[in-house]
Amino acid sequence: MSRVFNFSAGPAVLPEPVLRRAAAEMLDWNGSGMSVMEMSHRGKEFIAIHAEAEALLRELLGIPGNYKVLFMQGGAIGENAIVPMNLIGRTGRADYVSTGDWSERSLAEARKFGTVNVAATSQDTNFTRIPARDTWRLDPGAAYVHVCSNETIRGVQYHWTPDTAGVPLVADMSSDILSRPIDVSRYGLIYAGAQKNMGPSGLTVVIVRDDLLGHALPITPSAFDYRLQAEHDSMYNTPPTYAIYVAGLVLRHVKDLGGLPAVEQHNRAKAKLLYDFLDQSRFFRNEVALQDRSLMNIPFHLKDTALDAAFLKGAQDRGMVQLKGHRISGGMRASIYNAMPIEGVQALVKYMQEFEREHG
Ligand SMILES: *Cc1c(COP(=O)(O)O)cnc(C)c1O
Repeated sequence: MSRVFNFSAGPAVLPEPVLRRAAAEMLDWNGSGMSVMEMSHRGKEFIAIHAEAEALLRELLGIPGNYKVLFMQGGAIGENAIVPMNLIGRTGRADYVSTGDWSERSLAEARKFGTVNVAATSQDTNFTRIPARDTWRLDPGAAYVHVCSNETIRGVQYHWTPDTAGVPLVADMSSDILSRPIDVSRYGLIYAGAQKNMGPSGLTVVIVRDDLLGHALPITPSAFDYRLQAEHDSMYNTPPTYAIYVAGLVLRHVKDLGGLPAVEQHNRAKAKLLYDFLDQSRFFRNEVALQDRSLMNIPFHLKDTALDAAFLKGAQDRGMVQLKGHRISGGMRASIYNAMPIEGVQALVKYMQEFEREHG
């Protein structure tokens, strides 16, 4: 068996000890004689797995007691509709800050459910930065303000938490949840698909403040009603049981590493290696404003795009896969989520140095 360095933007690399543990427990979880996949979501075994995953998430993120944790399905794109269905009804209006392709998708979806005000956008600079807070035009009557904390495609990330003057802040954290400590109390709602940093696809985590429950539009499907899901401990419908189990293993692993401060330090070290190389290179470049660069997704372009295919082929030959950039932005992208070991980034930089020497 040999494992590659997988730079996929998602579904993405998972910690090897987690995969080994899941494999070891595949046929018989903890003496139950069953695979987790075969368990009733209402049985005592799965209820324990579910409760432990939630407790670990609460502990790692420091989630206050007045927030519910929901384990749902539908992904972040599903949440793009589920959030407005549940929250916009209070006033009928919401503010969106557009920093890239994912926030654009979010606000387009929200328009189906109410009035959307684009409070700020970085479209004029091709989404290479976060608009400064003092340029945002917020509506004090908005039901919420929506941001995307990390734009996965172009690699733009908030390194500050916006102050929204009492209006609930909603964040799509799909691609940077668990990558660093955050202050959950600054947010009204956080959502994230699991498949970037938390586990397999199929699970969507929602962290929502109690006072935001109970405002769903009458059209909201029951399975997507936050209040109903909260009242049923995320078991109004069958939750994605196996994905919750694997996410629980990932959370345990993150805790064993020393929690989010340790994870952040590791992520900073990895990103610095790649950015430092890009900044001195005359052949490769990253276009994101320095202060808004993502620690998770690092897009880069070759000076000569005719060499893209050769670059990718050489990477593949060296066991580094999924480096092709998103079709929207072209070029390359290295996604270096929590589970990417620093050795993977070192191998990538070494290869880039060689490639530049040969073709630069
Ligand atoms: C991956 C991603 C999505 C899309 O998630 P789905 O699980 O495909 O619905 C949305 N937002 C962000 C920030 C992402 O990284």
